[in-house]
Amino acid sequence: MNNNPARRIQDYQVFGEFGEVNPSISDGATFTFLSAEKMMELFKTEVEGCFLYSRHLNPSDYYLGQALANMEGTETAQVMASGMGAITTTITQIVNQGDEIISSRTIYGGTYAFFKNFLPKFGVNTRFVDITNMDIIRQSINEKTKIIYCESISNPLLEVANIPELRKIADEFNLKLIVDNTFSPMIIAPYKLGAHIVVYSLTKFINGMNDAVAGAVCADHDFIASLRNVNNGSAMLLGPTLDPIRASMIMKNLHTLHVRLKQHSRNAMYIAENLEKLNFRVFYPGLPSHPQHKLMKSIMNPNYGFGGMITFDVKTQENAQRLMEKMQELKVGYFAVSLGFYKTLFSSPGSSTSSEIPPEEQEAMGMTPGLVRFSVGLDDDIEETFSRIKQAIDAVL
Ligand code: PLP
Repeated sequence: MNNNPARRIQDYQVFGEFGEVNPSISDGATFTFLSAEKMMELFKTEVEGCFLYSRHLNPSDYYLGQALANMEGTETAQVMASGMGAITTTITQIVNQGDEIISSRTIYGGTYAFFKNFLPKFGVNTRFVDITNMDIIRQSINEKTKIIYCESISNPLLEVANIPELRKIADEFNLKLIVDNTFSPMIIAPYKLGAHIVVYSLTKFINGMNDAVAGAVCADHDFIASLRNVNNGSAMLLGPTLDPIRASMIMKNLHTLHVRLKQHSRNAMYIAENLEKLNFRVFYPGLPSHPQHKLMKSIMNPNYGFGGMITFDVKTQENAQRLMEKMQELKVGYFAVSLGFYKTLFSSPGSSTSSEIPPEEQEAMGMTPGLVRFSVGLDDDIEETFSRIKQAIDAVL
């Protein structure tokens, strides 16, 4: 297999019905059969190139899934209607009542809330740990543990997970290692580093246009087929199907991901270095001051840089709010949650994307109220953008 993820996407060639250079968009919720026998067969097992019903699988979702699987290096992938759809179907497919999950404590607030508030209704409990501390992880495992869950680069503190080491622990205790790679597609290849299953919010960098919500699960054939199983598959039964029109749009945007990532990373590095020069506490894995900078360098694909996400600390929530309002006024970008957009987005994690995490737990994990999270855009002139950020800082801090 070629070791360049962008090349692997490029080499995946699928055409439209009349030879269009993009595959036809599938326009049917259901599919006809010429023989009753074939339909019966499909209810029992998957047959390549045959489709049963669009919630189960449709050609447009299949194409996008295969392109993502090529990127990730997995056998296949299933796309979903959202990143949370990908995460929740993956987890619920694996756990049973009484099982436990070990999760990084610095993860997206929605995932945290799912583990903390939703899964216990079904008798599944989660222990939240410092994912950089292998001793704590080992100590937290017991006979009920089934999953180790983390983000390759975590939200919002940008901790980098040591995926190869986590896989060793997973193997020792027969656990599944599930990694959310939303912040670092192509930059980190979790499956190749040892994750069993890789989940994505495609809403972010992969689509990059902020016009669609979508997700994906990349894994081996058996696991993906289990998600789609008509009798007990979480994707089939809970139904987070991605609309084929959206899937075809995202597929086209996936082909420019490698170009966009390089620019996101270049711009983010410039802003991170310059914020650090102003003596702010800056979290960016590309900075030598980042606690996992060396680890990041040892696991990343250097072609795409250190990613587009930066978090920095302006000490109080009031400072963060005033700064973000001012930056929006100066057209640095938009005061908005989410990330991976061509324009810069900024938000204050404690009061937005991580607000599901109680304040005392935020404090324990090092999330201070004055954090500002940047998703740095594709700006052509990042010096000008930084001079506006500086102007905003001078005006309000
Ligand atoms: N994973 C991460 C790291 C995220 O940041 C998000 C959303 O912000 C999600 C998953 C959920 O994705 P979606 O909003 O597409 O459901």
